[in-house]
Amino acid sequence: NPPPTLLHPEKWCKEFNHFISQCLIKDFEKRPSVTYLLDHPFIKGAHGKVSFLQKQLANILQDQRQLNPVKTRHERMHTRRPYHVEGVEKYCLEDDLVNLEVLDEDTIIHQLQKRYMDLLIYTYVGDILIALNPFQNLSIYSPQFSRLYHGVKRAANPPHIFASADAAYQCMVTFSKDQCIVISGESGSGKTESAHLIVQHLTFLGKADNQTLREKILQVNSLVEAFGNACTAINDNSSRFGKYLEMMFTPTGAVMGARISEYLLEKSRVIKQAVGEKNFHIFYYIYAGLYHQQKLSDFRLPEEKLSRYIADETGRVMHDITSKESYRRQFEAIQHCFRIIGFTEKEVHSVYRILAGILNIGNIEFAAISSQHQTDKSEIPNTEALKNAASVLCISPKELKEALTSHCVVTRGETIVRANTVDRATEVRDAMSKALYGRLFSWIVNRINTLLQPDKNICADDGMNVGILDIFGFENFWRNSFEQLCINIANEQIQYYFNQHVFAFEQMEYQNEGIDATVVEYEDNRPLLDMFLQKPLGLLALLDEESRFPQATDQTLVDKFEDNLRSKYFWRPKGVELCFGIQHYAGKVLYDASGVLEKNRDTLPVDVVVVLRTSENKLLQQLFSIPLTKTGNLAQTKARIAAASRSLPPHFSAGRAKVDTLEVIRHPGETTNMKRQTMASYFRYSLMDLLSKMVVGQPHFVRCIKPNDDREALMFSQERVLTQLRSTGILETVSIRQQGYSHRILFEEFVKRYYYLAFRAHQIPLANKESCIAILEKSRLDHWVLGKTKVFLKYYHIEQLNLLLRQVI
Ligand code: ADP
Ligand code: MG
Repeated sequence: NPPPTLLHPEKWCKEFNHFISQCLIKDFEKRPSVTYLLDHPFIKGAHGKVSFLQKQLANILQDQRQLNPVKTRHERMHTRRPYHVEGVEKYCLEDDLVNLEVLDEDTIIHQLQKRYMDLLIYTYVGDILIALNPFQNLSIYSPQFSRLYHGVKRAANPPHIFASADAAYQCMVTFSKDQCIVISGESGSGKTESAHLIVQHLTFLGKADNQTLREKILQVNSLVEAFGNACTAINDNSSRFGKYLEMMFTPTGAVMGARISEYLLEKSRVIKQAVGEKNFHIFYYIYAGLYHQQKLSDFRLPEEKLSRYIADETGRVMHDITSKESYRRQFEAIQHCFRIIGFTEKEVHSVYRILAGILNIGNIEFAAISSQHQTDKSEIPNTEALKNAASVLCISPKELKEALTSHCVVTRGETIVRANTVDRATEVRDAMSKALYGRLFSWIVNRINTLLQPDKNICADDGMNVGILDIFGFENFWRNSFEQLCINIANEQIQYYFNQHVFAFEQMEYQNEGIDATVVEYEDNRPLLDMFLQKPLGLLALLDEESRFPQATDQTLVDKFEDNLRSKYFWRPKGVELCFGIQHYAGKVLYDASGVLEKNRDTLPVDVVVVLRTSENKLLQQLFSIPLTKTGNLAQTKARIAAASRSLPPHFSAGRAKVDTLEVIRHPGETTNMKRQTMASYFRYSLMDLLSKMVVGQPHFVRCIKPNDDREALMFSQERVLTQLRSTGILETVSIRQQGYSHRILFEEFVKRYYYLAFRAHQIPLANKESCIAILEKSRLDHWVLGKTKVFLKYYHIEQLNLLLRQVI
């Protein structure tokens, strides 16, 4: 046979089909695996056609399955490994990359691909879970599966997201310690889905006696996501904010409440979306829903002219929106969520009014008044939108108009009214919409937190929680601005946290305990974080400083960066104005500085705030009257950090030291003690707040990976996966986990917990090394090590010990 690549395409296709049918007849029953086919010499020779082949194969296999249902390997695994476990069983080798004998990139990729093609989307790297997005619905999340992954040894079942939730839950109950599950990955890799599944499983494990509480918690995600998610080029349901959800449990492990914190909502999406992208879901839901209820006019939403904020260039969206059955159903679902969680009818109505207000504001247009002397004034030619907006927001149209087209300046005690140019008026209009939406979102989140907070009677103080972090992954687009900068800094910080736990922490502890374990090299991103966060010469501090100068421009900003940031991670590309580059842990990113200063200032003119405060809508009044603080108070944050620092090495957490100097946080743009709260300082605060919650808990990591960019099932791009593995440090993790000990327990703690395994109830052993050895030997575990004060165990030892304990007691 000639090599397949040399065949004429048509001939090749024919050959290919023939080949496949032969394989299917001969081998399918024996080895129903795409990987097997891909390994065949015929296909191996066909470089460049592999993705085509994979699609083709996927289709054929799917047809085949329907005709002749064979159990997927996943299903068979479950039958093979039953729920009950006898004794201490050997760990299932293939499920954990740490067990691979050869640990190079090729082997790891190959292993992941093989599993993926068999629909085994989850794989462990020690205690870290890798989750590949299946891009199809799998039947592995039903209540049966919840029961399967409930307090059993990890090796009893194939890797699963439920197993991670269960591990966190068991750790929480066993050690009475807060837990934190960090989910990371690119956009579209499956973070949000994973977070849902974890919440689903935790509500199952935390057996809320209280059915309503359980229902409420399950609705929270849908509600918040309607307001914070949008359709982007990459993901139809992309989260445009970061979310940390804490599920609170009683000391015995029953769910008693939940709390969410939101980070970095992409407010700019309200006023403008990139080509092919959409506004936040809720706008479409509400438009379609109200249209069908024939209530558009109650909310002053015009039927004939759609708001600029949700129309695309073709203007056809109006029809698309109202005709879309799914939007209408989503609207009903959202109403249901509001009701279940406990929002009052009145509150929900106010929320809709504010949303309708924003849509109407979007339709206000400005024109220059061109009289001889006053070319820089603006007016509103069509007052319909203005009236609608004012009416639905319960404010005076005249005052609204003034706030948009003019502003007050106070000079030497005198108030002067100045006219706004068209550009300025447009900016004010959009700033108003963004502020309305941003504050509405924060209010909803705060309100949910109030409605879901634990009943004071059930010992809120002794509670423990599992936090779940779902935050956008690293972003690198063709144009990157302030938003990407913030997101990437947040990722940098999370990567640092990951490194600390996986590498630095590990190495330091070995040294302290005098254990001889090989030190694995890893890329420390601390210097880069310092470059961003240091005061006074870090990038964010410099940005804030420049934002305070009225004369500053984006050009002076970049110059300032260049003069002050003496770091190999920062550079200025030649010949490109207003640009700077940063070498992030996950790759090089070029940022465009135009508009960054203004985005950072995020000014909302006082005039606008004053008008909105006069609203008769109570909710709106509230949004602009009290400075909204982040959830939790400062004293709590500080206490958490103080508690955490006791258990952390001194150099841990780049930002910890700075939290002491936090001021009360207001929304950006608002003045505090004559100093404006900028986006950068708000962001820095949010990041510290998040970190302060994370460092208290014991971390669990879920790394989501997107196997291809076409959102296709059963397509695996080795190149794409490899990049993601490399950039998240998974490859190094494999080796450190293989050598490492993920549990270290003080001798006395260990003896206290496990002495039943070697001693009788009436014997009281000394809490020393010898007693530990006795227990460990009696338990017949291998590969443990003793340090100076602690027992060092592999990640799988704890479940083995617990299992033995259960048998003895
Ligand atoms: P991210 O939050 O990382 O941007 P999402 O969680 O929104 O990504 O996932 C993107 C899409 O991928 C989802 O809308 C869903 O279609 C699919 N997906 C992700 N995880 C799963 C899963 N476990 N099972 C089925 N589909 C999934
Ligand atoms: Mg998401």
